[in-house]
Amino acid sequence: MQQLITAEQVVVGPAGQRVADGAVLVDGDTISAVGPRREVERRAEDTCRRTAVGGTVLPGLVNAHVHLSWDADFGMLERYRAADYAELLLGIAGRAQRALRAGVTTLRDLGDRDGLVLRVRDAIERGDLVGPRLLGSGPPLTPPEGHCWFFGGEVSGPEEIRARIRRNVALGADVIKVMASGGQMTPGSPPTWQSQFSAEELDLVVGEAHAAGLPVAAHAHGTEAIAAATAAGVDTIEHCSWQGARNSGPDLREDVAREIAARDIAVCHAYPPDWRSFQRVVVGEKGARAVLERIHWMDEHGIRFVPGTDAGLPTSVFDNYVGALSYYVEAVGWSPARVVEMATTGAARALGLEGVGRLAPGCAADVLVVDGDPLSDITALHRQRLVLARGQAVVPDAAVGQRVS
Ligand SMILES: [Zn+2]
Repeated sequence: MQQLITAEQVVVGPAGQRVADGAVLVDGDTISAVGPRREVERRAEDTCRRTAVGGTVLPGLVNAHVHLSWDADFGMLERYRAADYAELLLGIAGRAQRALRAGVTTLRDLGDRDGLVLRVRDAIERGDLVGPRLLGSGPPLTPPEGHCWFFGGEVSGPEEIRARIRRNVALGADVIKVMASGGQMTPGSPPTWQSQFSAEELDLVVGEAHAAGLPVAAHAHGTEAIAAATAAGVDTIEHCSWQGARNSGPDLREDVAREIAARDIAVCHAYPPDWRSFQRVVVGEKGARAVLERIHWMDEHGIRFVPGTDAGLPTSVFDNYVGALSYYVEAVGWSPARVVEMATTGAARALGLEGVGRLAPGCAADVLVVDGDPLSDITALHRQRLVLARGQAVVPDAAVGQRVS
């Protein structure tokens, strides 16, 4: 079936590319034409479903860091650990759909039990469920009792590292996640600044993953872990908070920043939708300033960012990705146009996705339609009218009760 969406403007995705009075023509799950309304309209068949809006058509949003197994409320870890497979699978599917109804057409999950997210991914791809495009890591590699050991990815030594990666590949993982440093929320595990793997072990992880054709996402808070992950050649660094050894404060290493940029490794800072409350309650004023400083410092070094939310953690909900994007405009000071590019084309590229994150013939029909102009006002992304997930129309929560003509 064909669908034609016409709007005041089509935001194609890559920086600077927009078509005023434009249209997008979708054929099944694929975009077949994009351009000026008059030209594209001519290619639409009589039976085509037509949607005309005053605002903007843009690629669906990409959230590069979520945990669909967690329910985003306090006590989520206890509930996760008590849940059986059926409960987890239903929770994962429901949260993925909630994200989709808020305009997110691609989610990358970076840690679950036994690859359950990958089973939901498969069900969506088979057409058993409506949902966003899912990428998943399965259980992240971590040392015995290390950060997030409860996902089941504990490894000790090269043999177990190889075996875990083989198992994740067999589960159908899209990416290998390694907990290069400690993290929060795992009682008794190493502190955030501390490395959990040696440089040689990280080399092995990257070597094995790349040999299997998979990218590597490294969780790294400590500067030592960031440096080792960079030298090993990981594909994305999660959090990347530059913590000095033994809580000695920020340790921003020039040589490592230059290397991250030179290797084109993307950094996912993973900040929650309600970042204002998060800063007030968790990070504090001084901490928030330090976060901004390191983002600006990384930006000055030409490091590429990919947005993500760590959704699933308490208060980091799945249906307000736009809130998280507003951080980069309102706190960091980047233009809305830059942030829209980062959350669509840029994120798809960082995740190694071809034909996603852009509106162009042959690309997946992952499309978001909003009122207003998100290139000048990021909050326009809240005013959602229609979402297409591989051509399948979904009514966004924001549009329930509205009429889409
Ligand atoms: Zn995470």
